[in-house]
Amino acid sequence: MALKIIEHKVENYEKVIEGIDEEIGLHCFIAVHNTTLGPAIGGLRIFPYSSTQKALEDVLFLAKAMTYKSAAILSGSGGGKSVIIADPKRKSPKLLHAFAEVVNSLKGSYVTAADVGTNTNDMLIIKEKTPYVCALPIKGGSGDPSIYTAFGVVKGMEAVAKFLWDSPSLENKTILIKGLGNVGSKLAEFLFWKRVNLIVCDIDQEKVELIIDQYGAKEVLESECYKTPCDIFAPCAIGRTINEQVASTLECQAIAGCANNQLATEEAGKILFQKKIVYAPDFIINAGGIINAALEVSKEGYNPIISRDKVITIYDILLNLFMKAKEINVPPEEIAMELVEQHLRK
Ligand code: NAD
Repeated sequence: MALKIIEHKVENYEKVIEGIDEEIGLHCFIAVHNTTLGPAIGGLRIFPYSSTQKALEDVLFLAKAMTYKSAAILSGSGGGKSVIIADPKRKSPKLLHAFAEVVNSLKGSYVTAADVGTNTNDMLIIKEKTPYVCALPIKGGSGDPSIYTAFGVVKGMEAVAKFLWDSPSLENKTILIKGLGNVGSKLAEFLFWKRVNLIVCDIDQEKVELIIDQYGAKEVLESECYKTPCDIFAPCAIGRTINEQVASTLECQAIAGCANNQLATEEAGKILFQKKIVYAPDFIINAGGIINAALEVSKEGYNPIISRDKVITIYDILLNLFMKAKEINVPPEEIAMELVEQHLRK
């Protein structure tokens, strides 16, 4: 058989494997970080990493972040992730089928889904060779998670509003969305109906024009977006953008968006805290998608009503967290980490 699976021992990870099939051109990693609370669910990223080491670092980092997210929100899943080192334009059914065999070798401790460089159609191809795949656009499947993620962000913003302004209403608040992709564009639509003053930014001008036309949003250039005064800044593009300099520049009262790993450094979080900018920890506010996908894998099966109601709990979780953080005078992300550890210990 051409497929080789190599196991790597990595401290604090349950299992890390590397899959190589030279004939097909598959080179992948799957990291299972923690399955205390259920099977490790996490997307498959296809990306042309510049080195094997970079791919391994990314999969380890992302798998751990999935454990935090799933544990904080008690989605019933654990944390894992996978990456294929390749240009996503090069993906083929053969490549995805070979990857599915690597998933099968974990016997269900890891369940894959779409992520950067993959989509729900790719998941249908993977499904031809493995049952361990979710967020499928089929009967009984939970489909594209992004609308649940966007709705969860709205609930998180309402928790911010209640905490800061004593009412969950977002009416007449100015919200700047950076990144109008799957989640950001749906967030813009939800906020439009809540009578929010929208400011938007994306490197893709077509996406910006569409949101301006549909929802009367104002545009801001990427270079200006951190300096633009607003009530809530919503990072919805890529991660690790809020570094110390950005944190010092921001002129908002709160940060609440869907991007993963928003804080580039711990120091950036401390600056936000000193400036009294309320930060909604990313792995809680953006958990709507994992809540939705995890239900598909649960014994009870997928149910959109249960999913919606669980996403709504993001409001209470965040509001309690903000209040506790204020009471003991620490940044909210510290309380969020405590919550994760508490749930994992239980
Ligand atoms: P996406 O790829 O559909 O959208 C990202 C958008 O950001 C694109 O429109 C892109 O043009 C824009 N962008 C990229 N760099 C930018 C920059 N420098 N300035 C302004 N815009 C920029 O991705 P998505 O699915 O909407 O996810 C957005 C973020 O949320 C990602 O960090 C993702 O990991 C995270 N996330 C997504 C989900 C989900 O359900 N899709 C769930 C949890 C977390």
